[in-house]
Amino acid sequence: MSDCVRCGYCCKALLVVIVDNPDLGIRRDNLICYDGSSQCKHLVGDTPGEYSCAIHDREWCPKTPCAEYNSEEFVDTPCKLGEYIISKHKQSLK
Ligand code: SF4
Ligand code: SF4
Repeated sequence: MSDCVRCGYCCKALLVVIVDNPDLGIRRDNLICYDGSSQCKHLVGDTPGEYSCAIHDREWCPKTPCAEYNSEEFVDTPCKLGEYIISKHKQSLK
């Protein structure tokens, strides 16, 4: 899997199941699903390449569906889609 370069695309545009209240952790009654029409409530930032996840450091986070999907722990090569989105963003600022 590719290394996420934090362009934010997955957390804004994909259908994803996430933990609702971070203080409750992974529980059947504490999971919500975004359909990709709005960004995840835990996404922090507003610049491609500089986004972060507010719950990324929770000990249970690697077991969440979106963490398993993103597979940020499995570093191989930088995510090509992410690099493309970040380069387009930088071009738009010129
Ligand atoms: S929980 Fe974090 S990694 Fe998962 S979609 Fe939301 S911001 Fe992205
Ligand atoms: S860099 Fe890739 S894996 Fe990370 S949010 Fe962007 S598209 Fe998704």
